[in-house]
Amino acid sequence: MPTSTRPQRIAFCRISQESNAFSALPSSLDDFRVTHWYEGDELLARGARDGHEAPGFVKNAELSGFLAACAEAGPRIVPVPMFSVWAVPSGPLAHDAWQHLCDRITAGLQDAMKAGGVHGVYLCLHGALAVWGVPEPEVGFIRAARAVVGPDVPIAVSLDMHAIITRDLVEEPTFVVGYRTNPHRDHAQTGRRAGALLIRTVLGTAKPTLAWRSLPLALGGGTTLDFLQPMRGLFRAMRRLEKDPRVLAVSLFQAHLWGTHPELGWAAVVVTDDEPALAEHHAEDLADSLWEVRHDQAPAFPSAAEAIGQARSAILARRLGTVCMCDASDVVGAGAVGESTLLLAAIRGEAADLKVLFPFRDALVVDQLWDKPVGRRVDVELGGRVDPTSPRIGLSGVLLGSDEQPTLGRRVAIQVGTTSIVITKGPPLAWKPAFYGSLGLPVRRADIAVVKSFFPFRLYFAAWNRKTIYARTRGATDFDRLLDLELARPTWPKDPVAEWRPADRARRGLT
Ligand SMILES: [Zn+2]
Repeated sequence: MPTSTRPQRIAFCRISQESNAFSALPSSLDDFRVTHWYEGDELLARGARDGHEAPGFVKNAELSGFLAACAEAGPRIVPVPMFSVWAVPSGPLAHDAWQHLCDRITAGLQDAMKAGGVHGVYLCLHGALAVWGVPEPEVGFIRAARAVVGPDVPIAVSLDMHAIITRDLVEEPTFVVGYRTNPHRDHAQTGRRAGALLIRTVLGTAKPTLAWRSLPLALGGGTTLDFLQPMRGLFRAMRRLEKDPRVLAVSLFQAHLWGTHPELGWAAVVVTDDEPALAEHHAEDLADSLWEVRHDQAPAFPSAAEAIGQARSAILARRLGTVCMCDASDVVGAGAVGESTLLLAAIRGEAADLKVLFPFRDALVVDQLWDKPVGRRVDVELGGRVDPTSPRIGLSGVLLGSDEQPTLGRRVAIQVGTTSIVITKGPPLAWKPAFYGSLGLPVRRADIAVVKSFFPFRLYFAAWNRKTIYARTRGATDFDRLLDLELARPTWPKDPVAEWRPADRARRGLT
């Protein structure tokens, strides 16, 4: 609690990446450097009202929201920028990269302490970062901060809804809050909520008290989209709880499905204003509600052949726009490499008469074609560079064009029959139509636009997407890879589980 009217300084930083245990492509600091790496005062400019926080991704995210909360608080609050790094999901992060980021937090906070003190810390994290050999890498970030600022300075943590919640991740910081939309579109609101509550805590006008529950539940909730049942009702109920001024923040977490922590599961987190019994009551209730939707499993995805058949039958959808087909076994947005040839081979074999746009990662082929003239006939072999389980296929086509994009790096487009393939050096997310459009391939003219994204494409392709199909082959983002994870037993739906409470009590250290 402040003892003077001196401005209160809140240091902030972001480290955000989601790791897929089955990805053949480990992450390094370079993945952050090519995507999003800003330090110091540039964070203030990027998070300002007219700034652009995360070019290529979203204009405003958590740091914009946090800075808006600081601005609202007036001169009493001074935001102190440290650094912000963000990368596309991939395999677990290298240990030395994780250590480097811990050290940066330490150094950044030590500098901030010397420059005028630190009265609060905001850490914008993901919650599903993995590092082999470090069970809880993001707890390491929180501890690095705590070691510098001491036990009395509040630390706020915001997390993705797919965070894997563990005891230390919720109990080491002062409080945590999470996204409440899926596809995620409330990054800025989440930063604002975290910031506003942290400011109240720093100023002594709120005393966050947190209760939580951890469910042995890895997969449920139907599509998990926030605007469809059963999740819609749950999110509405959470908002209703927050109408009570004693309830400061209610979050649910659905756990990234391809994480490395054995306690991977859904969680409920409730923060009240110094009302521990109320927090416990609501957390228990919310956990019960989450448990209720466990039987609502996501619809089974069609095979590649079935998916192509569905697209072929969608004549009106193709005439009015395009069919968006998610390559659901190779979703780069959930950490896959983006070099699976299984759906591509099926399309070449069974959709040779349909206009298809396809994203693909193959750095070697990009290098081979980069200097070639447009219009040149080319023979390429795609696949199997990073992940040997992706069968290599040979294709003949014509070079359509090339460009270079932030994050994606160099790209070339080739035409193989009626299939246009955009080959990237970096992660071929294809989550926005511009992925194709900027190479002269408008999605509205395609019968099928393939994407490597589970959720965000549904927002960005909305203007042209007339039918969404998730096609399943075999890969790092299959839901049944869950069976290959070393999870705490029992975990639903891998195991039958009659009652969630015993696992929850064990995870909270109560038994
Ligand atoms: Zn997420």
